[in-house]
Amino acid sequence: MSFSSGSPKFRVAICGAGIGGLVLAVTIGKFADRDIQIDLYEAHDTITTAGAGLVISRRTTEMIEPLGLNKELFNVSTNAHHSRGPKFRKSDIPEGGFEWFSRMNTAGSPMHRKHLVDILTQNLPSSCTVHFNKRLTKYDKLSARSLVLHFADESFENTDVLIGADGIHSSVRKTLFEAMDRDLVDPSMLRHYADPSWTGTLVYRATFPAEKLLETDPNNVALGDFIIVSLWKSGQDGRDNF
Ligand SMILES: Cc1cc2nc3c(=O)[nH]c(=O)nc-3n(C[C@H](O)[C@H](O)[C@H](O)COP(=O)(O)OP(=O)(O)OC[C@H]3O[C@@H](n4cnc5c(N)ncnc54)[C@H](O)[C@@H]3O)c2cc1C
Repeated sequence: MSFSSGSPKFRVAICGAGIGGLVLAVTIGKFADRDIQIDLYEAHDTITTAGAGLVISRRTTEMIEPLGLNKELFNVSTNAHHSRGPKFRKSDIPEGGFEWFSRMNTAGSPMHRKHLVDILTQNLPSSCTVHFNKRLTKYDKLSARSLVLHFADESFENTDVLIGADGIHSSVRKTLFEAMDRDLVDPSMLRHYADPSWTGTLVYRATFPAEKLLETDPNNVALGDFIIVSLWKSGQDGRDNF
């Protein structure tokens, strides 16, 4: 890590080296002043790529275009070999079900999560240091522009700014609400704001060999295209809901 003069102008700590934390580090490195020091704190001993594939939507693709990664992303996208993106199918009708989604302009770039994470990791700026096995437990405000970060291994670090990218069970979000002035937040609502709660929506996913589908339904459209079937329930008001 090198800086133009002695110590860096500004220290940014990012908690969590998931897709969000990595994209933020790449973005700061690309557009910010070089004197920004980025410390990326990750709870695990590696950058995890749990899960299989994901689709980078058209809107997300537009947003990350200025990062200059589109060519690399295109090369790992399964769209590089098939001209079309995934097709979405509405599931509560026996046949068809593609028409409604075609109006949504849903095309995107499907790829393996690991490929996306690898590209982001390879594009981290030299001003960024990734610290593994650093699970943030909480932070304290030292002054208007200084925070102290506490980690599960009982170590601590100072920073000027902390950005929480630590996922659904965020310690940053929890500390933020717990430390908030009681005039600003109703104490009885703290758990509601700080802890995730189930909204009542379920997603089921399953994988099975394509050969099984070939045996039972050789003309199934999923054998030739990347299909996402959305389970569908019509609301009491008669409108369609996911
Ligand atoms: C089944 C499934 C399919 C999905 N498909 C898509 C898709 O097709 N397209 C799409 O755009 N999105 C998809 N998503 C959503 C997408 O995966 C998430 O929005 C995205 O991963 C969130 O990234 P993140 O970096 O905010 O959080 P995470 O990916 O959760 O990363 C958080 C990181 O922070 C670390 N961490 C956690 N706590 C701490 C701590 N206290 N201290 C330090 N580090 C910590 C974790 O180890 C992890 O590395 C899908 C999600 C699921 C579950």
